[in-house]
Amino acid sequence: MKIPAFSYHRPESLDEALGLLRDHGDDAKVLAGGQSLLPIMALRLGRPEHLIDIGRLPGLASITVDGRGKVIIGALVRHAAAEGSTDIAGHAPLVSEALPHVGHTAIRTRGTVCGSIAHADPAAELPAVALATDAIMVAESSDGVRHIRASDFFEGYLQTALRPDELLTEVRFPPWPDNTGAAVSEVSRRHGDFAMMGVACTISVADEITAAALSFFGADSIPIRATEAEQSLVGRQPDGDAFDDAAKIVMSTLQPGADLHASAAHRRHLAGVVTRRALAEATSRIGAMA
Ligand SMILES: Cc1cc2nc3c(=O)[nH]c(=O)nc-3n(C[C@H](O)[C@H](O)[C@H](O)COP(=O)(O)OP(=O)(O)OC[C@H]3O[C@@H](n4cnc5c(N)ncnc54)[C@H](O)[C@@H]3O)c2cc1C
Repeated sequence: MKIPAFSYHRPESLDEALGLLRDHGDDAKVLAGGQSLLPIMALRLGRPEHLIDIGRLPGLASITVDGRGKVIIGALVRHAAAEGSTDIAGHAPLVSEALPHVGHTAIRTRGTVCGSIAHADPAAELPAVALATDAIMVAESSDGVRHIRASDFFEGYLQTALRPDELLTEVRFPPWPDNTGAAVSEVSRRHGDFAMMGVACTISVADEITAAALSFFGADSIPIRATEAEQSLVGRQPDGDAFDDAAKIVMSTLQPGADLHASAAHRRHLAGVVTRRALAEATSRIGAMA
C-alpha cells in the first residue's frame, strides 16, 4: 500500500525542528531512520499529517564518552554506526551485545538507536537495554530540556513519556561498573525477527554476585525488569544453581501474553531459557569488558 499524503518538513536546525513540533503537536511525527514509522504509515496504522525529517540537524550524529565513562548517543546515530563503535563496545557493552539482534543489516543501516527507544516496541532490544542500564533520555522542546529515567520513560505499548512537542536528542548510558559482564539472549523465529522472548542482562561479581539486571523484551507491553529474580542472585556464587533459581522466579513472576507466534506458557518457558543463557554468558564475559 502507498503511504498516505503528508506535509514534509526538513528543518536545518534544532530550533527550527522544535518550532515545528510546537506548532504541529499531535499531528506531527519525527522521521529519523523511517524503519518503523514508514511501515506503520504504509499499513495505515498511523496517519500523521506532518513528518519532520531530522536527518539534516547538525550535531546529533555523535557518540561521545565523557570523563567519567558515560556514553552519550545522539539522535542521528544509526544502529550500524553504534555497532561499529569501539567507544560503545568498551563503555556500554550491553548496547553492543544488543545491536546485532536488531533487524537486518539494511534496517540497521538506516534505523537509529534513539528511534528504537522513542518507538518503544516492547519486543525491541534497545528499550530493554536502556531499562537494564538505567539510561537517561534527554528530551528537548521549545520549553526546555528534560532528563527522563528509563524506568519512567516506557509507559505502554509504543507509548513513552515523550510529549508530542519533544525530540529525543540523546540517550545517556551511565559509566559501566567494574567487574560486570553483559549479554543479550533471545529466541525469535528467524534471525532479525522481533523476539518472542528476550532478555538484556548484566551481572556484577566480586567474591560473590553483587548486582544483576534482567530486563525482558517480548514479555509485556513495555520492557520489564525481573527485580525479584535479580535480588535472588545477590550474595550467591555465579553458578548454575543460582541461575536456575533465578530462572524459576522469572517463570513464575513474568506474565507474558499470547499471540500468533507463541502461547503465554511457551513464552514463560522461553523466559527461563534466556535467563539461564544470558546469566552464564554475561558471567563469562566479566573482565573481557570495560
Ligand atoms: C523488517 C523489520 C524488522 C525489524 N526488526 C527489529 C528487531 O528485531 N528489533 C528492533 O529493535 N527493531 C526492529 N525493527 C525496527 C527498527 O529497528 C527501527 O529502525 C527502529 O525501531 C526505529 O528507528 P528509526 O530511526 O528507523 O525510527 P523511525 O522509524 O524514523 O521512527 C520510529 C518512531 O520513533 C519516533 N522517533 C524517532 N526518532 C525520534 C526522536 N529522536 N525523537 C522523538 N521521536 C522519535 C518517530 O516519530 C516514530 O514514531 C525492524 C524493522 C523492520 C522493518
